[in-house]
Amino acid sequence: MKQIDKLYINGEWVSWSGDMIDVHEAATGEVLAKIPAGSRAEMEQAIEAADRAFATWSESTVDQRLNVIGQIQEQLAARADEIAEAISREVGMPLKLATQIQAGLPAGITKSYMKLLPEFPFTETVGNSEVQYAPVGVVGCITPWNYPLHQVILKVIPALAAGCTVVLKPSEIAPLSAFLLAEIIDATDLPAGAFNVVSGYGQEVGDALIHHPKVKMVSFTGSTRTGQTIFHAAAEDFKRIALEMGGKSASVVLPDADLKGAVKGTVNNCLLNSGQTCTALTRLLVPRDRHDEACELAKEAVGKMTPGNPLEETTRLGPLASAVQRDRVLEYIRLGIEEGADLICGGPEAPEGLEQGYFVKATVFGNVDPNSRIAQEEVFGPVLCIIPYDDEAQALEIANGTLYGLSGAVWSADQAKAKAVAGRMRTGQVFVNGGAFNPMAPFGGFGHSGIGREFGKWGLEEFLEVRSLQL
Ligand code: NAD
Repeated sequence: MKQIDKLYINGEWVSWSGDMIDVHEAATGEVLAKIPAGSRAEMEQAIEAADRAFATWSESTVDQRLNVIGQIQEQLAARADEIAEAISREVGMPLKLATQIQAGLPAGITKSYMKLLPEFPFTETVGNSEVQYAPVGVVGCITPWNYPLHQVILKVIPALAAGCTVVLKPSEIAPLSAFLLAEIIDATDLPAGAFNVVSGYGQEVGDALIHHPKVKMVSFTGSTRTGQTIFHAAAEDFKRIALEMGGKSASVVLPDADLKGAVKGTVNNCLLNSGQTCTALTRLLVPRDRHDEACELAKEAVGKMTPGNPLEETTRLGPLASAVQRDRVLEYIRLGIEEGADLICGGPEAPEGLEQGYFVKATVFGNVDPNSRIAQEEVFGPVLCIIPYDDEAQALEIANGTLYGLSGAVWSADQAKAKAVAGRMRTGQVFVNGGAFNPMAPFGGFGHSGIGREFGKWGLEEFLEVRSLQL
């Protein structure tokens, strides 16, 4: 068991002797590590340190920022195995996938900012005006547990690239990689205080962060409910906000599509990280006359996802990240049955031989009423709803018929047709015929899925204020 009894404040590891939080291994439920349940006093110190450091870091040159970001990138790549294993244990994602995604993606995104930063126009000329982009100030970053380092990097790297300073409040459920990042940053040339980590509970340190007047922006990823709390708090003194929240994304299969490919692509996407992905395609919309075939194909695709310990080579589907999350997902599976959806596979019992830890059976519901709770609310687990539709207009109405709008997919033999349908989806990104994820493209949500965008230049611009000089 790992004992982390320090917080990272003002460039120093500050000893912590207060309450600790247990971090559990998802596959066994055993305590994997203990981390500080920091208090408001430490959060205050970290914000003060970030505020002092802003005076120097906001004046840094692009070369100085590139140097630091390059040092971080190098170590993220060098320590990829350690990062992947820590996240695989705390979150439950199969190790091989965690190496590619949980460790590989943060290193890749950091690299993409090294390319973008020297090209970014921090000043522009518009007629007789010079437009300047200035760092917002101290940024509070609050992150969830499902892609713990990825979500941290998407905030910290563009914030530092913009010249902002950061106080990070990582998820209490999967915090290990945030401490690894603090170790990495500690060894760089970043001035003391420009990056701080205060772990703890949302209601305590998170609350202190979002209400502090010296915090000029809050960048948050997590549940829609917490996002709303942050939005209210930010309104008090007009803090900038970026909110990345939940989703209930639709995968729309048009009548001419290759049904097998579409179902396979949707199931794989839906079950990634055991369904704990904000962009998961959790609603599969199929023409009514192909519904039964789609259910059979989905069952077949789910059957190939061998559940097991994420550290084992053969595992394709790991456990959920916490007991709370497992119980929440099981409640939803029971609810789906109660609401009258057809249970195609899975169900509310633990998979055989995996009664320990936080395992849930991958579950597919057929003939789902698009207005039922199982089809409207974010489950955040390995649960797919198959919904039949009668015509394209109805398919779009169902696809756009939730409060969310984070991601989506369209499948058709006719690419132009698929693009036209994608263009009518009220969502921040759409995968057309299985198009590849692009880390340079903007990412974010419509409606209750969020405000603001991450990745690429859009992610950087979130951390910049705009000023114009009339010359
Ligand atoms: P959560 O909202 O419970 O917690 C997220 C973070 O907010 C944690 O660090 C938590 O401690 C903190 N927090 C909680 N209450 C707070 C408060 N009152 N004040 C300040 N901070 C507070 O979310 P979670 O359960 O960790 O993550 C799952 C959710 O995140 C899902 O709904 C998922 O869709 C969403 N998510 C969204 C994206 C995206 O990019 N859109 C990505 C991943 C996850």
